[in-house]
Amino acid sequence: MGLEVHAQLLTRTKLFCGCETSFGDAPNVHTCPVCLGLPGALPVLNEGAVRLAVTAALALGCTIAHRSVFARKNYFYPDLPKGYQISQYEEPFSKSGSLAIDVAGQRRVARIQRIHMEEDAGKNIHHASFSVVDLNRAGTPLIEIVGEPDLRSGAEAAEYLRRLREVLMAIGVNDGNLEQGSFRCDANVSVRKVGDEKLGVRAELKNINSFRFVEEAIDIEVRRQIALYESGQRFSQQTRGYNADKKETYLLREKEGDAGYRYFPDPDLPEVSLPPAYVETLRDRMPELPEARRARYIEELGLSAYAAGVLTSHPKISAFFDACIALARQAPAEQGVDAVKIANFAQTEVMSGVQTTGLDASIPVRPEQLVELLALVQKGTISGKQAKEVYAKIAGTDKMPADVVLAEGLAVMGDVTEIERLARDFIAANPKQVAQYRSGKTNILGFFVGQIMKATKGSADPAIVNDVLKKLLAEGA
Ligand SMILES: [Zn+2]
Repeated sequence: MGLEVHAQLLTRTKLFCGCETSFGDAPNVHTCPVCLGLPGALPVLNEGAVRLAVTAALALGCTIAHRSVFARKNYFYPDLPKGYQISQYEEPFSKSGSLAIDVAGQRRVARIQRIHMEEDAGKNIHHASFSVVDLNRAGTPLIEIVGEPDLRSGAEAAEYLRRLREVLMAIGVNDGNLEQGSFRCDANVSVRKVGDEKLGVRAELKNINSFRFVEEAIDIEVRRQIALYESGQRFSQQTRGYNADKKETYLLREKEGDAGYRYFPDPDLPEVSLPPAYVETLRDRMPELPEARRARYIEELGLSAYAAGVLTSHPKISAFFDACIALARQAPAEQGVDAVKIANFAQTEVMSGVQTTGLDASIPVRPEQLVELLALVQKGTISGKQAKEVYAKIAGTDKMPADVVLAEGLAVMGDVTEIERLARDFIAANPKQVAQYRSGKTNILGFFVGQIMKATKGSADPAIVNDVLKKLLAEGA
């Protein structure tokens, strides 16, 4: 299978007019003569959209054409007021990219045939006895990322989509929002016999709005096609939908070939010229991509592959983690908090309170708060267990951990005399366990450690508790 992904470019205005791109506003408020397709209105290309499109193509390893052409794709549909969509056809602005995916421990490189710019259509809304159209979305800038048929299973397709979405979000080109349709996927599925060169007739699965459903729909469609071939039936090229409740794909329409669209260069728009210097400037400004970031977290910071995956799952989360690392490095070497400790805490405590919507994320603490908290643990002022309590008190507030520790009278109990006193009490009160320990069942030590930690509400320094207990238990032996 090969995927065609439509990704909305995060511009403030539409591709060929100054109307705002929006979601959820009253119908038809973001329209003008250009995006309504009124006679005499002329399109003007949005430079911001071009910049985002080229950035996306560079991030996906594409070659940029220094000259490209907008073409009219003619078809009639109520949500397309001009009777044609402005797209790119024979001369797209970029070609020949790739995206690496890892499935079941195997790395595969999926080729990208081309990326082109085009405008979105409006939206038809069907009621029981009539239909209406909302043209707010008409003219919204999109890139279409056309993959080669390199993917071999629903799982590979879902992984490709996750990686693609992650890249586009990391470079700020797309908000990755599937529910609002700003990241949409069509899947071309066909089968062939083992050993055959040529792929069979393909079906295009349209508008599936979750990665899980894409994976399901593809696997179900593959089985349907194999069953048809094996029963000797022929079928034509089709566009199909997916019914997630019935777990089946269904016919939407027989597919038209490209000839039906009568593409020709749009005479209202000049050629798009992308000088090499312009392209190189965008290449230089490219932020670090998720894959490179994961490699850096693993190789330079010593994180596990899993932790690196979690902390690069959203651009705001990796920015937060990077800010924590930068802060920790400012501290004198002996007080600096280790990256792995920051990662562990961020991944468990912090991530459980993170909420993301598109490119936005609300993170319950600032980097300054988290780094100070972990520095308190590092210095031995509070225990790891107390750190979680302090975290619960600072999350969602402006409070600094050191102030909370002071105000709450929290601090590790490192007073050896006091710990010894407690240890002697517990040893005296539990002769049976003491005898067990002395007969060689040394793992009973945990019982005593637990008692002392409980008595001190987790504030005793575990290293001191262990030392003291071992010493006292050995003394009586
Ligand atoms: Zn407009």
